[in-house]
Amino acid sequence: MKLYMFDDSRLGVAAEDGTLVDITATVPADVPALDRMTALIEAWDDVRDEVAAAASAGGGVAFEDVTLRAPQPRPHNLVAAPVNYHAHQGEMGGENGVYKGMVIPTIEEAKGFFKSISSIVGPDGRIELPLAGRRFDHEAEVAVIIGRTARRVAEEDALSYVFGYAPVMDITLRGPEDRSFRKSMDTFTPLGPCIVTADEVADPTDIDFRLTVGEEERQASNTSYLIYGVARLIAEYSAVTTLHPGDVIATGTPEGVGPITDGDVVTLEIAGMDPLVMNVVDVSA
Ligand code: MN
Repeated sequence: MKLYMFDDSRLGVAAEDGTLVDITATVPADVPALDRMTALIEAWDDVRDEVAAAASAGGGVAFEDVTLRAPQPRPHNLVAAPVNYHAHQGEMGGENGVYKGMVIPTIEEAKGFFKSISSIVGPDGRIELPLAGRRFDHEAEVAVIIGRTARRVAEEDALSYVFGYAPVMDITLRGPEDRSFRKSMDTFTPLGPCIVTADEVADPTDIDFRLTVGEEERQASNTSYLIYGVARLIAEYSAVTTLHPGDVIATGTPEGVGPITDGDVVTLEIAGMDPLVMNVVDVSA
C-alpha cells in the first residue's frame, strides 16, 4: 500500500481506482496531527485490514485536488548513513574530489549521523538555500521507515522491523561546518510523497532509483551497491539508539552528487514509488 499525508495532515491511502482515500479515522482523534503517521504505524497490525479495505473500495478524492505533505513529518529519529556507496566515497575525496585531497572516512569508521527533524519537508514545499555564495548539493537516497521498536536488533532479524520505504533527499551544504549543521537546515530533508509498505518492495537489496535536475540525469543507482544494506544499518543504529515506529533512516547516496541552484527542479524517482519533485529557491537575500 501507498500511504500519504495531505491537506491539514490527514492520512490517506492510494486506492485501486486511482483516488486517495482518507483514513485519518484509523487513528484516535486526540493524536496531534503531525503524529498521525507514527500512530498509524504503531497501530498497523490492528488497522491494516481496514486500510486495505479502504484501498480496495476506492471512491476517494482526486490526487490533483489535495496538497500532499511529507508522509512522516515528525519521527523521533532521522538517522542517515554517510558514504554508503563505494563510488560516492571515491568522488568525495582525492585529487578531483568535492573535498579535494581529503581522505573520506568509510561508513565503517563514520557509521552514521543524525539530521534535525525540522529539516523534513514534503512535496508541497521547496528546497530553500539559505546562504549566498555557497555550494549546496542534492543527494538521492532510499529511506527506510521503521515499523516497531528496535533495540539491539540482529542483522538477520532486521528487515522484520521495516514498515516501509520512501524517497528522500539529503540536501547538503558543502564546506568545513559540522555534518549535522550542513544537512539539518530548514527544508534539507525532502521526504515523500508516499510511504510504500514493505510488503510491496520485493527485495530491498535491489531497488532502482535515479535523480534528475531539470532534464539532466545526475544520479542513477540501485540499493544492491550499498556498502551497509538496510538490514546492516538497522543493526548498527539500533545497537546504540532505540529506533521507534515511524523513525526514518536515509540509507546513503550513490555517486553523481552535484550542485543545485535557484530555479532548479530536482526529481527523485524510485522504482515502485511516486516521484518526489522539488523546486529549489535561493532565500539568502
Ligand atoms: Mn546523504
